[in-house]
Amino acid sequence: MDAMQHYPVFLNTRAARIVLSGGSEAALAKLRLLMKTEANLHVFAPDAAPEIISWANAGALTLHRRALKAEDVAGAALVYAADEDEARDSQTATLAHSARVLLNIVDNLEGSDFITPAIVDRDPVTIAIGTEGAAPVLARQIKADLEARLPSSLGALARIGKAFRHAADTLPMGRVRRAFWTEYYTQTGPASISKGEAATKAALNTLLAQHLAEAQAEGHVIFAGAGPGDPELLTLKARRALHEADVVIYDRLVSPAILELARREALMLSAGKEGFGAAMSQADINALIVKHASAGAQVLRLKGGDPAVFARLDEEIEACEARGIAFSIVPGITAASASAAALGQSLTKRGRNTEARLVTGHDMQGYADQDWKSLARAGEVAAIYMGKRAARFIQGRLLMHGAAANTPVSLVENASLPNQRIVATTLGQLPSALAEAALTGPALTLLGLAPRDAVTPTLKQEVAQ
Ligand code: SAH
Repeated sequence: MDAMQHYPVFLNTRAARIVLSGGSEAALAKLRLLMKTEANLHVFAPDAAPEIISWANAGALTLHRRALKAEDVAGAALVYAADEDEARDSQTATLAHSARVLLNIVDNLEGSDFITPAIVDRDPVTIAIGTEGAAPVLARQIKADLEARLPSSLGALARIGKAFRHAADTLPMGRVRRAFWTEYYTQTGPASISKGEAATKAALNTLLAQHLAEAQAEGHVIFAGAGPGDPELLTLKARRALHEADVVIYDRLVSPAILELARREALMLSAGKEGFGAAMSQADINALIVKHASAGAQVLRLKGGDPAVFARLDEEIEACEARGIAFSIVPGITAASASAAALGQSLTKRGRNTEARLVTGHDMQGYADQDWKSLARAGEVAAIYMGKRAARFIQGRLLMHGAAANTPVSLVENASLPNQRIVATTLGQLPSALAEAALTGPALTLLGLAPRDAVTPTLKQEVAQ
């Protein structure tokens, strides 16, 4: 493709000064269009056609009955040389160039800085047609075609549409909003404009209500954290999501007291990976979420604690993304926070540890390989999720890397719930303490933290001195 010699722009003419030299046919043709703008028009013509005189009398332009001078051009946005006289036009050109103002010489493409395109005017819709001067006839033909094809009501439709933009912004961005405007410009608008502007505005309101209702009918997934179990540790957002969801897909860790908060009509589905029912694979859970959201449901995927901590959130999000399903995430209080609170301790403390790690005791491949060496240092704090089964393995790794046998270790079972239990022990005693406690609920292992004195543990194994 050839480079564009003439680059189309729409010039802001408000308060701009536009100067035209000439007073006959060519000047009249240019002025008819220029008078539609907001510019201050100055026409210089010792002999002006009667039309120009009457436009001047009507205040549509300022007529100066003399030839153009240098000071007339200064500060102008555009200059037109429309005298149809080579000598006069070249004088105008010289004045324009020395004042560095963009110049158009009528019917002289090469001598002009800019050209005025053929225009189809459906204010505020303006279509400019340019052929780089190559085919003025073609430009006129295209203009005639467009004039015939575009209803004269198009301008009114666009004006009404523009005034309605703010209201339409209540629709979700993107596809939904585009569909609304397409329907307005291709169907609702043209059908109602003949009945007047008021009818068109009313039709636009009805159309918006329809599209808003449809947008709400689109499926959506909220991944929310249910917190550690106490319903009072739910966020207000999670609580509202429970109240509004059509389908709730919940994990085994979510307590019954929290599920009570869902609407009665909501479909409650357990995705529990343990317990009585058959284990549900991650792929099955993904499919379940996608199935309900695709059918238009507001799906709440409720996970224990925080949905972004050891909860396979990304796999479920990716399943939604693959199907173009909108989703949002509502964080929750993770078990580490609730367990530290149960001990009356901080997860970080000045002078003790400036970092606290969230680690998992085992992952899908088996016992997780952490940076046990760095965790073996005195003062380290780690919240070990899913750590019960891996206790002996973790103990072995930490002792091997030089951790002290009397490093405090606390286990918090059912943190935040009425049946919460705290096992206070040490790294050296960890496996025997676990065996003795026989924990059955979810438990978090806090390495490096002992319960504050004010907190009485359920089970306490003293360090063998
Ligand atoms: N997303 C969850 C963690 C899921 S992994 C969160 O942010 O808390 C599951 C592990 O979390 C359990 O094995 C247990 O170690 C821990 N856990 C979850 N809820 C708990 C609770 N109420 N008390 C103690 N530990 C809990």
